[in-house]
Amino acid sequence: MALTADGQTTDDRDTEAIRGLHEAVARQRAAFLADPSPGLAERLELLQALAGMVVANRLAIQEAMSADFGVHPTIATDLIEILGVAGRAAYAAERLEGWMAAEPRDADPGLFGSARASVRPQPKGVVGNIVPWNFPYDLSLGPLVEMLAAGNRVVLKPSEYTPACAALLRDMIHATFDRDRVDVVVGGLELARAFTQVRWDHLLYTGSPAIGREIAVAAAAQLVPVTLELGGKCPAIVAPDSVDAETVKQILGTKALKNGQMCITVDYCLVPRDQLERFAQLAQERVAEAMPGYGASPDTTGIISMRHLRRVEALVDEARGRGCDVRTLGTAPDSPDPARRQLPLTLVLDPPDDLALMREEVFGPVLPIKAYDKFDDAIGHVNAGERPLALYVFTQDEDIADDVLRRTTSGGACVNCAAAHGALASLPFGGIGQSGSGRHHGIEGFREFSNLRAVFVRGQDDLVEAFSPPYGPAAQAVVDAAFGPA
Ligand code: NAD
Repeated sequence: MALTADGQTTDDRDTEAIRGLHEAVARQRAAFLADPSPGLAERLELLQALAGMVVANRLAIQEAMSADFGVHPTIATDLIEILGVAGRAAYAAERLEGWMAAEPRDADPGLFGSARASVRPQPKGVVGNIVPWNFPYDLSLGPLVEMLAAGNRVVLKPSEYTPACAALLRDMIHATFDRDRVDVVVGGLELARAFTQVRWDHLLYTGSPAIGREIAVAAAAQLVPVTLELGGKCPAIVAPDSVDAETVKQILGTKALKNGQMCITVDYCLVPRDQLERFAQLAQERVAEAMPGYGASPDTTGIISMRHLRRVEALVDEARGRGCDVRTLGTAPDSPDPARRQLPLTLVLDPPDDLALMREEVFGPVLPIKAYDKFDDAIGHVNAGERPLALYVFTQDEDIADDVLRRTTSGGACVNCAAAHGALASLPFGGIGQSGSGRHHGIEGFREFSNLRAVFVRGQDDLVEAFSPPYGPAAQAVVDAAFGPA
């Protein structure tokens, strides 16, 4: 139990935060029962307020990101955490009327006469969102877009690894929304665990597959529907026709975004064995030309904590210890500054599969380049592992790209670039199997956080009575129509 500057113990803080969580849920539940389904105009106002909030707090968001990461490029904060959220809210607002509309469904007039059937999305109610540290606003406020569009009330729980971002998130939300609509609870692991014990109407969790499993178990205990946005190893398959400067630029560019701390980064790539050295040379040239001082540049995001940094270093140390060809790209300080926690881009050529580097998600600026002999071996390698959150294929041949997409399974995919699918508000985002289940973004996100209610409105001239005892001529007529008279 640690003592904090204001004399409280960390446990006291979580006890308070847990009380705050239960109050927030009770307040939102009461509000939901009193007003279960906001109309279009109210939802549009909420989306506008959300977009306005991130834009108005732009500088504070930039500062909080830099404080938590040691170094966080302000342009990346603008592009992803601010414009990404505002753009997603604008996209949802533009389409919301259509998303909310009842969708007519077929009802056989022979059986159901003039009845009308439809799917009417309605809010699920009170929704929880457990957020990881790597995109503190994109992953709290991004899904909030579809949660609010669907008419829900929402409690957000940011990560304990991003205290500055969490405090700002709480203050911004409290200043922008009624607390019975959106609230934020901030605390440590005890609060995180308590959050999973709440009987939410829906729970979203974004984070590692290991904790995702615990969340799924806790949610199952109360039959809480859960969306799991998890991680894993996203591969890039480079076809023999595409080992070139453009492919290498795309792969390294994606790895450099957040310095590898992104769920849909290229975790590792698969390259034809006879072009392995060429790929490595092109990577060295790219960094020497475009980002020579990458390891200490203001464009290089810091690793979130020294513990995470040591984990990434240990992956490289193990590879080196096993005799792998490890190449640091560009220049880098001899040891990372603990305040900035930057690590250089590093290649590991053809590491064996039993290394931690090839078993665990890298989540840092290290790129293992695995060699393959036949193209089928590359596909086989991917299919032998867990189904990834994303898969990337680099080729000039559309047939090869289609073949890879047909023979592999992943949550998302890109051809000739990486991670771009995650930037589109129009595309569903999520994983499959160990990389997650369920989707957010766009209409799929709206539906994920809605109860898709099936509504049947009886009309005239139907055979509805045929289905209930006592079975009489109406029921017999239905059966005879199908099988012929007895
Ligand atoms: P993290 O340590 O911030 O944890 C995520 C959240 O889970 C935090 O809010 C934390 O407080 C909470 N948490 C931790 N332990 C818990 C427990 N026992 N019970 C309940 N809640 C708990 O983040 P992380 O897990 O290090 O995030 C990195 C992982 O997230 C990577 O695997 C990455 O690929 C994945 N990720 C996935 C997506 C996606 O959209 N699929 C996006 C970003 C990150």
